[in-house]
Amino acid sequence: MKQICFRKQTAIAVMFSVLCSTTCIGQLTLPPAEIEKALDEAYNKFKDLKEGKNADYIKELASVDPNIFGVVLVTTDGKVYTKGDITSMVSIQSVSKVFTMAKVIEEQGAKAVEDKIGVDATGMRFNSIVAVELQKGKEINPLVNPGAIAASSLINGADSAAKMKSIMQVHSDFAGRPLSLNWPVYVSEAGDNLRNQAIAHLLLAYGRMYFDPVQSTDIYTKQCAINVNAKDLAIMAATLANGGVNPVTKKKIVTPETVMHTLSVMATAGLYDNSGIWLYNSGLPAKSGVGGGLLAVCPGKFGIAVVSPPLDAAGNSVKAQKVIGYVVDKLHVNPYLVQPK
Ligand code: GLN
Repeated sequence: MKQICFRKQTAIAVMFSVLCSTTCIGQLTLPPAEIEKALDEAYNKFKDLKEGKNADYIKELASVDPNIFGVVLVTTDGKVYTKGDITSMVSIQSVSKVFTMAKVIEEQGAKAVEDKIGVDATGMRFNSIVAVELQKGKEINPLVNPGAIAASSLINGADSAAKMKSIMQVHSDFAGRPLSLNWPVYVSEAGDNLRNQAIAHLLLAYGRMYFDPVQSTDIYTKQCAINVNAKDLAIMAATLANGGVNPVTKKKIVTPETVMHTLSVMATAGLYDNSGIWLYNSGLPAKSGVGGGLLAVCPGKFGIAVVSPPLDAAGNSVKAQKVIGYVVDKLHVNPYLVQPK
């Protein structure tokens, strides 16, 4: 009798724990077939879309193949799902701002970033000078050019080479492989970045630049020219989704707290002046770059990235926004979507 009771209890305990773990797994893990279906549909639905135009204010970007189109989703348990062109390299551009921001938070703390740069959305274009002028260099954030150049100036390192080395390293760690610079893109932008230099000098005038402004702009320009493909960006996004541990290499890159602060600014400012519309529709923190890359983070679940160079008027990849929006809808992963109990 005792034995039966014990068995019954054990069976109930096992059933309970299985039930519990499937519920938990149900929340955390998406069925692979569903992911594949969503990516497939999104890819086919938007592959022939011809809206948007390559950035051309950086001359080298005008000649990038506008037909490059790759979609990659990487889960927090390291599974990689791909569609289309995942090997063509594009310059990371503003997506880099996320990883330099995370590095500065690691080195100096979240408070220093809040105080020395700012964490408020400007609601203006990514390279707005007015945004700096209006608030005397305050109330900007590391995901628009002024805040990003300030972040480059804050990265630890005795000189500009040391700072750049550290930025390269953190990007490579997030991607899980050694990344390198696209020199033609760097040279093209470096020869023509007077506006960013003006922004850096204006910040200096307001006491909000923490290293030589010309060198800081140069570091920033180099970081924007780091070459990536859709898979790199998706692994970088998945590392953020996974609390700062790269789910493919298993290396710990930054702390969960650093990720938490970084994602918040991505939510409010990751797509510049269109961040509100983006968040309204997808609910996911994201970051775009004028090279055509866009990544989004579904915390605890996955990172997703798309590379497609043609941009809308705000400077965000047209196809990437549509594909990620579609996948988020299909997988029901907008974190604000909650079914009542
Ligand atoms: N390097 C570009 C610039 O500074 C990055 C802009 C972007 O991707 N939005 O203008």
